[in-house]
Amino acid sequence: MLRPDTDVKYVKGVGPKIALILSRLNIRTVEDLLFHIPIRYIDRTNIKNVRDIKIGEQITLIGTILDTNFRRSGRGKSISEFLFSDGTGNIKLIFFNQPYLKKILKRGVHLIIFGTIDFYRGYQIVQPEFEIAEKNNDIRENFGGIIPVYPLTEGLSQKRVRRILNNAILLTDLSSYEILDKKILDACSVGSLKDAIIKIHKPADLHEAEEAKNTIAFYEFLFIQTYLEKRKVGLKEEKGIVIPRSPEIENFLNSLPFSLTKAQKRVIDEIINDMQTGGVMARLLQGDVGSGKTIVALTIALNVINSGHQTAIMAPTEILANQHFNKIKNYLKSTNVKIELLTGSTKTAKKKKIKEGLSSGKIDIVLGTHALIEGDVKFNSLALAIIDEQHRFGVEQRSKLLKKGKNAHLLVMTATPIPRSLAMTLYGDLDISIIDEMPPGRKEIVTRWIKNEKRFELYDFIKRRIIEKGDQVYAIYPLIEESDKLDLKSATMMYEEIKNYFKGIEVGLIHGKITPSEKENIMKRFANGEIKILVGTTVIEVGIDVPNATIMIIEHPERFGLSQLHQLRGRIGRGTKKSFCILISDRFVSDIAVKRLEIMEKTRDGFRIAEEDLKLRGPGNIYGTRQHGLPPFKVANIVKDTEILKKARECAKKIIDYDRDLKYNRLLDRFDSIEKYYRIG
Ligand code: ADP
Ligand code: MG
Repeated sequence: MLRPDTDVKYVKGVGPKIALILSRLNIRTVEDLLFHIPIRYIDRTNIKNVRDIKIGEQITLIGTILDTNFRRSGRGKSISEFLFSDGTGNIKLIFFNQPYLKKILKRGVHLIIFGTIDFYRGYQIVQPEFEIAEKNNDIRENFGGIIPVYPLTEGLSQKRVRRILNNAILLTDLSSYEILDKKILDACSVGSLKDAIIKIHKPADLHEAEEAKNTIAFYEFLFIQTYLEKRKVGLKEEKGIVIPRSPEIENFLNSLPFSLTKAQKRVIDEIINDMQTGGVMARLLQGDVGSGKTIVALTIALNVINSGHQTAIMAPTEILANQHFNKIKNYLKSTNVKIELLTGSTKTAKKKKIKEGLSSGKIDIVLGTHALIEGDVKFNSLALAIIDEQHRFGVEQRSKLLKKGKNAHLLVMTATPIPRSLAMTLYGDLDISIIDEMPPGRKEIVTRWIKNEKRFELYDFIKRRIIEKGDQVYAIYPLIEESDKLDLKSATMMYEEIKNYFKGIEVGLIHGKITPSEKENIMKRFANGEIKILVGTTVIEVGIDVPNATIMIIEHPERFGLSQLHQLRGRIGRGTKKSFCILISDRFVSDIAVKRLEIMEKTRDGFRIAEEDLKLRGPGNIYGTRQHGLPPFKVANIVKDTEILKKARECAKKIIDYDRDLKYNRLLDRFDSIEKYYRIG
């Protein structure tokens, strides 16, 4: 008996040569083969007799070639004609410009054909799909009414794939696909994976094929969801540091110049409650750009400090860490909380002092970059690790920070709204809090998509705004990794062009190649209003806060992801003035690009934008998910199968509820291949 992990070359009908061909389809084991899913089916119950055909019908016929005729049309096109019979009648098959068919489709060859009936001096099918059959009825031997049609590669025929799949199914011990306990099968109302695998290759009818496909998708989701649910429950059962709600929190919130939104209050409650259950918190805080995550994070940090513990906040870049530091220090004016900033450019003596302060417990909050996870940074009692823009950190880095404490609570924050289905898969092991409301009084951002021809009209408008209203401007150019140099040149060219056009107005340029201190300096001069126009690549993307900057030009917006455009746009509309975001594209952009740019014009809702982006471009392209690594699915589709995903998620909860250690449900050996996508420490 074969096993799912057996090398595919041992399947009857494969051998080394075919194994090599199969490897081009990423089929290496029997399991890979079993998961080689049909792209469609021929419905044999719909195989017609030539006698009964009607014009316009899409049908399958099985028969023999009676005669052939090869010629050229007046214009030199090659035409191949075949007279085809199934014993009940004759029909002509016509192919254009496929002269090699002469060698394959000889008189007497048996064929299965699929196509649309046409009539021109008799019934005919133009360019039918066809398969050669050894004898008239050979596909009826191994398959029922429905014949699968598989993705192929050169050197591999449908017939061969069908035969080896048939062998694989007959000769493999499929019992390892009987994964779920009877109770769970019933509770989740789902069939066994084993049945689904057999049925997707040998369905009794098209409905059964469809169901088998859904069942396999369900199991693909289920493996991941159960893994995540088990981890989530595991964290809750670990002994966490209990942080009660401190009455000081109210005093602090009252000291702020604004009152929190309902959403901010709600998520603060969620988080504080979670930190007093006795378990370890692992939570994702989602909130659109500008929704006020910083104050939420700080409130939580204060609560931790009031219990006598420390908090670390890690940001992906020095600029961001700096900005957070200044913002937070400002919020903390009325308190005696001790906060420090630790980054790569902190002076050695200062670094040493901060490290001492952290290990003695004198420092309450430390803000920083990757410098926080260096080996010699030790905490007296780190109870909370907060990670901002978490998708910019690797798995290892997050885990290193957490390990600086003992069962420290984890709060990761993201300003890239993640559609629900994606969040369930990427962060299913985390609890999720969402700030779904903006602070009041946000200024309007007018977004317009214009074509290149209008550039100089736009420049004139901007010039007036700068001179008359003192506005400041971001001009953003996409940076594409593969062609760093080219983009650098483009950004530089744009800088020259703008400098020329805006004579007498200070223009700055930043890009990935300038040193951090130069960058810092330019940013400072932009923040204090000295520089009016800042030209840059996307390095200025995240977190920068210059309320007087009210205009953003984005070049080649079609090259950015929607969520990324949304992030960029979040840099403006922060002050008291109306803001403008202008997307300048080439004259010709694809239909999809047009749709995407129109969405940008219409909405400022980051979640809607992310949903649309997911639909238009698929999960692999959404900003952040590629780095994060979404597990690959063979059948399941995270965009289309959201109902199946929900069902799998609910089922995973039932499984962990009833079979915590997975003794009765054989899911553990599925986890190895999943684990690498999720390790966060
Ligand atoms: P983000 O979620 O993007 O990190 P921030 O925390 O930087 O957002 O907040 C954006 C701005 O909104 C900051 O200037 C902050 O002080 C302000 N802010 C936050 N919460 C409120 C609120 N409830 N009312 C008014 N302004 C707020
Ligand atoms: Mg922020």
